[in-house]
Amino acid sequence: TNPQDILKTLSLSFEVFPPKKWEDFPGLYETLDELKGLHPEFISCTYGAGGSNSKKTAEIVSHIENELGIRSIAHLTCAALTEDKLLSTIENFKNAGIHSVLALRGDKPFDMSEEDFANRQYKHPSEIIPILKKAGFRVAAACYPEKHYEAPSTEEDLHWLKHKVEQGADALISQLFFDNDAFYRFMDAADQKGITVPVHAGIMPITSAKMINTTINLSGASIPKALSDLIATYGENPSDMRKAGIEYAARQINDLAEQGMHYVHIYTMNHSETAKEICGLIK
Ligand code: FAD
Repeated sequence: TNPQDILKTLSLSFEVFPPKKWEDFPGLYETLDELKGLHPEFISCTYGAGGSNSKKTAEIVSHIENELGIRSIAHLTCAALTEDKLLSTIENFKNAGIHSVLALRGDKPFDMSEEDFANRQYKHPSEIIPILKKAGFRVAAACYPEKHYEAPSTEEDLHWLKHKVEQGADALISQLFFDNDAFYRFMDAADQKGITVPVHAGIMPITSAKMINTTINLSGASIPKALSDLIATYGENPSDMRKAGIEYAARQINDLAEQGMHYVHIYTMNHSETAKEICGLIK
């Protein structure tokens, strides 16, 4: 098969996050116009763990879906949700013309006590997925190719992942990873477990050495030697590091396509330029 044909089967999606200030919205909307030009399958927008950004998420997703005409997914975390808050959020999402939700637990919000977190109303997204489905949303959930940090074992994590799918998740979006082999092992294990919904592979371009200490540590993703070598070589030089990080992400995506994977979710961090450069390398 011609490699170009394989790449054409890729379905790309992007993720953005709400700016802190409303006055920064026009900048994000320009970014979204640029991302539209890359013909994504969808663009998702994150949600604050404590729900503080919920209005912004709704506004952005509504803009993507209704103004730009691109499918969009609103993230929704349930860690700080009460039943009333869930129902009012569903109402707000519906009024904003939102059709799809990524149901998440979220981590403990910084302003929530350990006790309140332990006693939260909805322990896991599997408890809100049926409610969202009943309200008419398409629902996605998160998955972790290298296991969620709280799960005692891969097997147990997969057990609960299957439960999320059984509760109605129509698709899965993966945590970022840098080791494609870890993703292929996860896909095989998920397949054996009977998880057959589409899985969107999460790819984050490392465009600065600083990102290693923040994003990567939080995600728990392992760092293959090729990536640590690259950081050692280019880490001190911001423009070389950015270029090498973009090339690494594009290599990961090309390999995913060659291995027959169809769905790639790029964590763009609101940078359309980075997304464009990656796409330029995979066409
Ligand atoms: P869960 O599915 O609840 O999983 C958490 C742990 O509980 C796992 O160890 C799992 O094995 C276990 N588990 C799951 N279900 C059950 C069950 N029914 N009973 C017992 N154990 C169970 N965070 C944000 O704050 N905002 C965002 O917008 C956001 N977007 C994200 C997007 C993606 C694609 C991903 C991968 C993560 C995102 N996160 C976001 C981070 C996410 O909130 C954290 O990773 C959180 O720690 C787990 O969320 P989850 O929905 O995977 O939780």
